[in-house]
Amino acid sequence: MSHEKFLDELISTLGADVAQRGAEVPERYHTDWSGTPPQRPLALVRPRSTQEVSAVLRLCTAHKVAVVPQGGLTGLAGAAVPTEGAIALSLERMNSIESTDTRAGLMQVQAGVTLQAVQEAAVAAGMVFGVDLGARGSCQIGGNVSTNAGGNGVLQHGMMREQVLGLEVVLADGTVLPMLRPMLKNNTGYDLKQFFIGAEGTLGVVTRVLLRLRPAPQVTATVLAAMPNFDAALAVLRRMQARFGNSVAAYELMWDNFVQASLSWLRLNAPFDQRHPLLALINVDGKSETPHGGGLREDVQQVLEAAMEAGEVLDAIVAQSVAQAQTLWKLREAPAELNNHMHPPINFDVSLPQAEIGRFAQACEAAFSARWPGKHTLYFGHVGDGNLHVSVDGKTVGGECDAAEAELYRLVGEFQGSVSAEHGIGLHKKPYLQASRTPEELAVMRSIKQALDPLGLMNPGKIFEL
Ligand SMILES: Cc1cc2nc3c(=O)[nH]c(=O)nc-3n(C[C@H](O)[C@H](O)[C@H](O)COP(=O)(O)OP(=O)(O)OC[C@H]3O[C@@H](n4cnc5c(N)ncnc54)[C@H](O)[C@@H]3O)c2cc1C
Repeated sequence: MSHEKFLDELISTLGADVAQRGAEVPERYHTDWSGTPPQRPLALVRPRSTQEVSAVLRLCTAHKVAVVPQGGLTGLAGAAVPTEGAIALSLERMNSIESTDTRAGLMQVQAGVTLQAVQEAAVAAGMVFGVDLGARGSCQIGGNVSTNAGGNGVLQHGMMREQVLGLEVVLADGTVLPMLRPMLKNNTGYDLKQFFIGAEGTLGVVTRVLLRLRPAPQVTATVLAAMPNFDAALAVLRRMQARFGNSVAAYELMWDNFVQASLSWLRLNAPFDQRHPLLALINVDGKSETPHGGGLREDVQQVLEAAMEAGEVLDAIVAQSVAQAQTLWKLREAPAELNNHMHPPINFDVSLPQAEIGRFAQACEAAFSARWPGKHTLYFGHVGDGNLHVSVDGKTVGGECDAAEAELYRLVGEFQGSVSAEHGIGLHKKPYLQASRTPEELAVMRSIKQALDPLGLMNPGKIFEL
């Protein structure tokens, strides 16, 4: 009954174009990419401005109605899935790139702009944006901020947090916090914007973001290298960093089972004549003429030759053109196909002490095979940042998804890792949050939540229970 009054007021305040009742909400807003069971929201609102977001939140506070912010719905932790009785607040119409300042290396955008649109606008302005990930065409900058997204560029530029110079946020009661001063240094009390980065929409709605852009490299050398084992892969990373320092822009490792899935799902040609235990995709940025005299590709080639002599690299392809580099990087795009080929995929995103990643993958393989005989696990990840992704086909563990999770997180605990490196906690990893955070840390998180959202209306039930 009270919901009817709320819905009438919502629609009369914002218009039927911005707010729709639950029965009319298309199914795509009922869940996200994580495969969480869908839930119809009480209503869908798609505001066009910060003022409209503020009006929605004021109304929700007055009627004590919960709000689930939604970006591109590519999240892998179920964090954007509506909770029962909550409205979904989609930022998709707030998708303007408001300004680009190449002298200052800044871009101001509305939160609903896609990552790819930001990347393309940065390139068009002669610069680059430091975050890249497979869902770039759909995920939004507001979602990237709210999950503190990582991806392929972390080694060089850090996670999303490092790309954010300012934020505009609307709090649960409709208060707008304009934290958009365009400067790196500002030690005037708490750096409030940091609370909202990685908060998964539980503290407020991100409406604008002031992003840092990076100078574009003159050239990028791309390598696909085959390695006999994880220790060799780590040794090659060290060689590359010793020679090129922070210009090593990406170091993505793919275990053979992942490579075979990628070749088959994406119908790609095998890059080498034979299979190898591990393949690394490596990007090195630089100038066309390096201080060492040769071109960047020749310098990279030299490092690879030394690694081959040491037995660390078995075979390698150095891309000779941008098109060939793009073809090599296609191998890394299999995660976009997981939902089509695994039934269902059980996705893990764990952080581990970097040197232990190889042993961890072996321990997982042994533990899973012992309990559920057969091959069912793909390993890949941003190994340069100590981040491993594991995808298990739910069918191959007889649908025992909870048991598979418990087994893997037990091993994460044993290896002193973290249960979420970059995807967040959302709904899926809630039971395991205390494995990576102490009771004292959780108590402080709850106090912050209480201070910013005393009625508990922002994305309730995500990350932790109050
Ligand atoms: C193929 C594929 C590859 C991926 N690769 C990576 C990767 O390499 N690295 C990585 O980190 N992630 C990766 N992801 C996960 C996902 O793309 C990221 O988490 C992304 O940042 C989510 O953005 P989104 O706009 O889709 O957010 P959504 O899924 O819509 O939402 C995610 C969370 O952010 C909140 N939220 C969204 N917008 C706002 C806003 N404006 N204000 C407040 N809260 C908001 C939601 O409530 C939710 O809690 C991948 C996903 C896919 C499908």
